[in-house]
Amino acid sequence: MKLKRLGNKSKTLNNKRNVLIVLSGPSGVGKGTIAKKLIEQNKNIALSISCTTRRPREGELNGRDYFFIEKSEFKNKVEQGGFLEYSEHFENFYGTPKQFVLNTLENKDVLLEIDVNGGLEVKKNFPDAVLIMLLPPSLEEVRNRLIKRDTESLAKINLRMDRIDYELSKKELYDYNVVNDDLKTAIKEVEKIIYQEKNK
Ligand code: ADP
Ligand code: 5GP
Repeated sequence: MKLKRLGNKSKTLNNKRNVLIVLSGPSGVGKGTIAKKLIEQNKNIALSISCTTRRPREGELNGRDYFFIEKSEFKNKVEQGGFLEYSEHFENFYGTPKQFVLNTLENKDVLLEIDVNGGLEVKKNFPDAVLIMLLPPSLEEVRNRLIKRDTESLAKINLRMDRIDYELSKKELYDYNVVNDDLKTAIKEVEKIIYQEKNK
């Protein structure tokens, strides 16, 4: 399959392979925080910006955090095969732009910050992808983080909490599990995994 071939053959000048990294985990576990640090600290990693039909939160920017699009446009993109994967989440759609990922993998590692359904879909089509699931130190802590982040109503936080069990039930299907307790330690652990995978 085209995707797999690309992953195996994309090597950088120093003969390391470019990897497709999937970062997943329950809402509030710290995916966004860790993804941001990873791309700041590692110039060879590019973040894929997903398309979503949800409304922007305060402070979010179109083209930086997501491409915010209407449901009709999302549907068109699905029909045109424009997504590597997509899934529905809390009544909105989220999808990974396929062409960006394929083009960028020629030169860089690509990081996807997506939910477990999306991650497992990517793995099906691209077995060389590296699936990393972030785990919270406890359920209480993840709830506290969502409350502290203050981007959702309590009702929406409760919806997100309801989904945690589902996300965690898939953790064994992921290649790596990393507990995000101390932020710096978790980032180092993820960087170590990427480094090892690049050298495989
Ligand atoms: P996600 O993208 O998984 O929904 P975020 O990255 O938005 O989660 O993190 C949720 C909240 O938790 C944010 O306010 C963030 O600053 C905070 N956070 C992330 N990692 C840690 C950590 N290791 N310890 C304490 N707070 C954290
Ligand atoms: P949020 O609304 O908090 O930004 O994201 C909700 C969930 O959608 C998170 O679990 C996030 O990782 C996931 N998500 C974001 N982009 C994508 C994507 O392109 N595909 C899939 N499958 N999930 C995504």
